[in-house]
Amino acid sequence: MTAPKPASGVTVSIVGSGPNGLAAGAYLAQLGASVRVIEANKRIGGGARSAELTLPGLIHDECSGFHPLGLQTEFTQAVDLGAHGLTYLWPEVQYSHPLDGGTGGAALRSVARTAERLHDRRWHSAFGSVSASFGAVSDDFLGPVISIPGHPLALANFGLRAALPVTTIARLFKTEAAKALWAGVAAHAFRPFASPFSSAVGVALASAAHTYGWPVARGGTQSITDAMASVIQTGGGKIETNRRVESIGELGSPDVVLLDTAPAAAASICGDRMPARIARAYRSYEHGPGAFKVDFAVEEGIPWLHEESLTAGTVHVGGTYGEIADAEAMVCQGEMPERPFVLVGQQYIADPSRSNGDVHPVYSYAHVPSGWAGDATEAIIAQIERFAPGFRDRVLATHVRSATDMSRYNANYVGGDIITGANTMSQLVFRPRRTTQPYDTGIEGVYLCSAATPPGAGAHGMCGYQAARRALTKLKLL
Ligand SMILES: Cc1cc2nc3c(=O)[nH]c(=O)nc-3n(C[C@H](O)[C@H](O)[C@H](O)COP(=O)(O)OP(=O)(O)OC[C@H]3O[C@@H](n4cnc5c(N)ncnc54)[C@H](O)[C@@H]3O)c2cc1C
Repeated sequence: MTAPKPASGVTVSIVGSGPNGLAAGAYLAQLGASVRVIEANKRIGGGARSAELTLPGLIHDECSGFHPLGLQTEFTQAVDLGAHGLTYLWPEVQYSHPLDGGTGGAALRSVARTAERLHDRRWHSAFGSVSASFGAVSDDFLGPVISIPGHPLALANFGLRAALPVTTIARLFKTEAAKALWAGVAAHAFRPFASPFSSAVGVALASAAHTYGWPVARGGTQSITDAMASVIQTGGGKIETNRRVESIGELGSPDVVLLDTAPAAAASICGDRMPARIARAYRSYEHGPGAFKVDFAVEEGIPWLHEESLTAGTVHVGGTYGEIADAEAMVCQGEMPERPFVLVGQQYIADPSRSNGDVHPVYSYAHVPSGWAGDATEAIIAQIERFAPGFRDRVLATHVRSATDMSRYNANYVGGDIITGANTMSQLVFRPRRTTQPYDTGIEGVYLCSAATPPGAGAHGMCGYQAARRALTKLKLL
């Protein structure tokens, strides 16, 4: 990584305070730039916020909960968030997958022990070598895909698996538990399991679990936001909330503008200043399915029958590999399944400070079709109850955010798309448009830095960091 020159005297305006906007701001403020962040919401953080959503004293992550890809990156090496209050904590089981009858699978930090407990050595064949070199590989894929890799052999080993459909990797496994565990982690891509490259997200997250684990931020994901905001403010930067930027003209003429927005919103903000072909590409950027989120206050936690789920940070709920494959295929076709795939977050297991005595904050969301206006609360409760009888009776309070609420809560979640863009084959390689310079908007000094740019979704801040480095390159400071 080349070290940049100081950026003192450079003025920067950032639209949106999601993890990418803040990461860009923190990196540039630390280099001496004069940073201003403008956020539409009354609270900063975008998809990295936490709040007492159900009962007093219970801290729920409003969006992002687990941070395997944000732990050791070029950004965290450049900006010491630990010095600004951020600490990570790990559950004993990184993620689990209950099946009927109290059986199931569980991913531990050790890939060998995971394979042993699954009674399936092929888990080790699938993820052992990739996990061993994942630290090096992640440096390569946490940047633009079209770039010269620093670790070509390790990246090729990763790429061989990532390019496959989820179905092909599933055929490797012998046990139902291993197949289901794979289905749960692969479903994070929000893609039909038969499509090419649908394994990419699952292979990355499964390997990351064995390399870094799936940690939570102490005190809530909000701590990641607060740490980055603290770096910006320590560098003299200003953060303004409750103001939606409608037009780039409102920003005056800073040297650098970074847009932490969805591509279509960037086109609208930039108006006539953006070349028409780029605005067209941004407007045709494809968004993925939606999410329907329910947070629960649960007395004594969820009574999972599957023992390893009792100590898991994340529990993937949806039954067998086949059931999840069918549910994901329906959601991607715009149909709501009766039994959707549900992700349950038990962050309090790693971080007990989020609970109030015996009452714990539980986070869950179901995958639903884009823009779905229905209510999935009962479907989520029924899916959890299926593997944890008695759950319903332990719920003291709920907080619901539908797919349509999601897009009102954060304009970047178009149609409830919490990953800011479908993980299609072309958008995995080229996002937000077909170009070798994904952060450029066609306007000098103006860059897109949201999760619609490489490396994509996640509260890792790497899109913002890479966009900031692109801006420094253009300013000849890198
Ligand atoms: C339910 C849920 C669960 C998730 N789980 C995880 C997880 O476990 N791990 C993980 O890594 N990621 C997870 N994610 C994804 C992660 O939160 C996002 O990928 C990440 O937040 C994207 O960051 P961003 O900076 O690109 O944009 P965002 O976080 O979406 O922030 C964009 C910000 O810009 C503001 N904004 C938009 N337009 C304007 C405007 N015109 N003017 C001013 N401000 C504007 C918005 O209000 C928002 O605050 C999850 C997301 C959700 C919703």
